[in-house]
Amino acid sequence: MGDKLLDGNRMFLETEFTKQKEYFQKLAQGQSPTTLWIGCSDSRVGPERITGSRAGEIFVHRNIGNVVAVNSMSFATVAEYAINHLKVKEIVVCGHSDCGAMKALAAGKEGNDAFIPLWLNNAAEAKQRLEKRGAPAGEKEQRTALEKENVRLQLEHLRAYPIVKKALAEGRVTVRGLYYDLVTGTLSEVT
Ligand SMILES: [Zn+2]
Repeated sequence: MGDKLLDGNRMFLETEFTKQKEYFQKLAQGQSPTTLWIGCSDSRVGPERITGSRAGEIFVHRNIGNVVAVNSMSFATVAEYAINHLKVKEIVVCGHSDCGAMKALAAGKEGNDAFIPLWLNNAAEAKQRLEKRGAPAGEKEQRTALEKENVRLQLEHLRAYPIVKKALAEGRVTVRGLYYDLVTGTLSEVT
């Protein structure tokens, strides 16, 4: 029986790492990523993979449902480090299709979970806004609409963080919403 992670690492060492030895040695001395990426923990939406980025290019914060929680110590620290120290140029909130968090939010069942419903309160307003506006017909269309509305809501949370607000006002960063479609492999803007 092989060890999937360590075997995978040996493969990585023998191929990518060896081929780009100079690049990785330079990276070992420090990072200067240009993007702060806020994405979902979903195993299918790794930001480097879906954007064709190399190690060292994206600073990442991932959680259930690509949420920018209000008053989150964890997120505030990530944002502070990314903006003040790494001097990232853009901040991305990326949602995706078939998101389990958005399915749970849409279903609204409490179940036996202790933390998931609490965490999803950070996205509840997206569902309310969609209901108010009139959700589209069709289950798939409704899910997509909720996944995108959640990106818009989290962008609002993001812009409200003092550190982000200041950097935006001074023109040091831009923020944008993206959406990844798992079926087509396409990344698109959320406007
Ligand atoms: Zn997700």
